[in-house]
Amino acid sequence: MIVMKFGGTSLAGRERVAGAARIIEQTEDPTVVVVSALGGTTDTLLDAAAMAERGEAEALEALQARLAREHADALQGAGEAALCQPVLDELASVLTGVRMLREQTPRSVALISSAGERLSTRVVAAHLSALGKPARAVDARQIVVTDDNHADARVDLDATRRRARRELLPLLEQGITPVVTGFIGATPDGITTTLGRGGSDVTAALLGALLGAREIWIWTDVDGILTADPRLVREARTLAQVSYREAAEMSYFGARVLHPKTIGPAVEAGIPIRIKNTFRPELPGTLVAETSPTLPQGVKTVSSVRGLALVTVEGRGMAGVPGVARRVFEAAEASGVNVVMISQASSEQSISFVVSGGETGRLLATLRQRFALELEAGAVDGIVAEPDVAVLSIVGQGMAGTPGISAKLFSALGAMKVNVLAIAQGASELNVSVAIKESSERRAVRAVHSAFGLTRLVNLMVLGSGTVGRALLDQLQDTHASIQRRLGLDLRLVGLANSSRVVLDDGGLAPADAPERLLGDGEASPGPGALLDRLMEGRFTDLVLVDLTAADTAGLHRAALERGVHVVTANKRPLSGAQAEFDALAAATQGSGARLNYETTFGAGLPVLHTLQELVNTGDRVLSVSGCFSGTLGFICTRLEQGAALADAVAEAREQGLTEPDPREDLSGRDVGRKALIIARTMGLSLEPHQISVEPLVPDLEAGLDQALEAHGAAMSQRAEQAAAEGEVLRYVAEISPEGVSVGLRAVPRDGPLGSLRGQDNMLVYRTDRYSEFPLVIRGPGAGAAVTAAGVLGDVLKVARG
Ligand code: ADP
Ligand code: ASP
Ligand code: MG
Repeated sequence: MIVMKFGGTSLAGRERVAGAARIIEQTEDPTVVVVSALGGTTDTLLDAAAMAERGEAEALEALQARLAREHADALQGAGEAALCQPVLDELASVLTGVRMLREQTPRSVALISSAGERLSTRVVAAHLSALGKPARAVDARQIVVTDDNHADARVDLDATRRRARRELLPLLEQGITPVVTGFIGATPDGITTTLGRGGSDVTAALLGALLGAREIWIWTDVDGILTADPRLVREARTLAQVSYREAAEMSYFGARVLHPKTIGPAVEAGIPIRIKNTFRPELPGTLVAETSPTLPQGVKTVSSVRGLALVTVEGRGMAGVPGVARRVFEAAEASGVNVVMISQASSEQSISFVVSGGETGRLLATLRQRFALELEAGAVDGIVAEPDVAVLSIVGQGMAGTPGISAKLFSALGAMKVNVLAIAQGASELNVSVAIKESSERRAVRAVHSAFGLTRLVNLMVLGSGTVGRALLDQLQDTHASIQRRLGLDLRLVGLANSSRVVLDDGGLAPADAPERLLGDGEASPGPGALLDRLMEGRFTDLVLVDLTAADTAGLHRAALERGVHVVTANKRPLSGAQAEFDALAAATQGSGARLNYETTFGAGLPVLHTLQELVNTGDRVLSVSGCFSGTLGFICTRLEQGAALADAVAEAREQGLTEPDPREDLSGRDVGRKALIIARTMGLSLEPHQISVEPLVPDLEAGLDQALEAHGAAMSQRAEQAAAEGEVLRYVAEISPEGVSVGLRAVPRDGPLGSLRGQDNMLVYRTDRYSEFPLVIRGPGAGAAVTAAGVLGDVLKVARG
């Protein structure tokens, strides 16, 4: 049996609830499901309680209406809104009670906040039933027996074990999946209590332990336990496995993925906990178990907690006087304040400790009262609190016995000019914590994360080992160290393939040697589908497929994106086929969250498509894009302008290696047409390839290149002369707007932007609502292996940095 819990973020909105239901439905083991309230609901309910206490009837009503709507929306397609009504009605009357009394008590707040989970269980159970999986919403107040600390209750294990078995096992035996409210319980006489914020994790661990589950799965919105909070450190990496003790320390010091109290019951029962991402269920997540491998750097995570205060009791008269520390902490206990961290100077002249910011006032008053005599006598000269403090902690079992960890921590903080207010090291040597100002939290966490080399691993599978492929491998080799240092990213090449062979190595290939290894230990290519299957076996958290081929890889791109593999492509073909194919790629990225970056399908390294996407994304309206998209045709037009004959200009371009192997590919305008199509689609237009009007530079190419050049050479020279007489020059121009897309030879003013273009440079002119009077112009070389490879690397980094 498996106990799985879905966090609020995994249940925000109908789509996500439906996704969670599919995950449950696809699990083969008998499953007990524990759910949090739909994302944000608990906060809303706590707000409601506060509003009721303040007597704000109207605001309260609006809030309740919103809750009703959100739950009805989440139910859509699975059940009637009436399903939630009894809970909403009861909530309304409790809130009315609080509003009349103008007083919220821990009891009433617990009852009010329990509504979130009682609603979400009904919603999730309905979705499961709609999928054909029998399910029932179960109210944990029938199961979880607690003391009467209403906001943060302690569980009576024996009583709970009996009830858990009595209520849940019969359901499982009948093939019904119980969907149990997380977070809530009740006292023996049935008064509602809660297990503290994030308490659904506790419910799941508890039920897992008491029912003897095989594993406990915590589904959330990140890939597992990361080396740091991804909101602070974008390049944080997922840890494959951590030990119970590490997980306990991490969650205690702010790694919010797991509630600190979760570990206890699971450890005693020896049940592994798996943290998984609802949005990427195919990933293995993080396994929390008895043991875990140590990392060479000792430290596994850098976590932090904000909203704290540092309290200091200080005085010359404290040294050598026994019992001061005891009295200080008794005062903390008496005022119900949770002490996060303690540090005492060796002179014994001061004791500093960190508590939750909101509790400081109460604690200071108690301390001043209990040390009144000492304060008066001058033995204690100050009891003060520094607000806006954060505690940063490094955690990892390999830290014990590894010298130099603290030195590294403090030099990283020092280099970022982070002032350390207090220090503490757990006796277990599993963690070192420092108190710092909240304002330096982000900077400090990032600096420490990179000082301990906790970078994110990004795995690359490169298809194509031609000139661009080799240039990319060279750049990977040359920039690896600096990318790691500057961006905290470890780019690892896990495979290289050409059209017939492939070499794979999970552990990483040295980029410089990869082409040789492809020829040496490479195996015959297993075909795109099988290749993808093989790659998925590597269970990489971040895998990027880099397509540098000219093959028809649309199907491969789509399959990869659907499975959460990012794609970076310099290959235009997958994007310039049928519109439906392009749309399918876009849909695949939306479904899985994988990214498709294709900047280099146009103009090598020029930032053309990214710029266009930014304009569209930021709400600008693109009126038209025009320009010269072909270095080859640009060269030929420039030579015509200088008086060269058409056949000679083409021959020169060919000699200089500027044309495709068959120059007709360029002269037909097909290549420019494909580029125009990609631009149009990036602008958001829907268009089939045949809807683009392509006027070839040289007509009648089917008959043969030489004949065509001969037949049309004179007319071309004449056109060039005529244009010159009118102050114009010939350019092969693409014009893209919502009205249509065309490419062809045009006469343009010699002094205008396109007329001033020389040689192989590309130029794009964007006219938008924002850039209407003076258009936005991008110009530069649009071809070359080195710039293309650099553009590809840029796309890879964009993927990796989220
Ligand atoms: P849920 O609603 O699923 O319970 P929580 O918001 O309680 O989700 O916990 C998940 C969040 O914990 C993540 O979105 C992440 O921002 C945060 N977090 C903080 N530290 C870490 C860490 N070291 N690893 C993973 N997530 C972390
Ligand atoms: N819904 C509760 C909270 O938001 C419990 C949980 O999500 O675990 O804190
Ligand atoms: Mg949580």
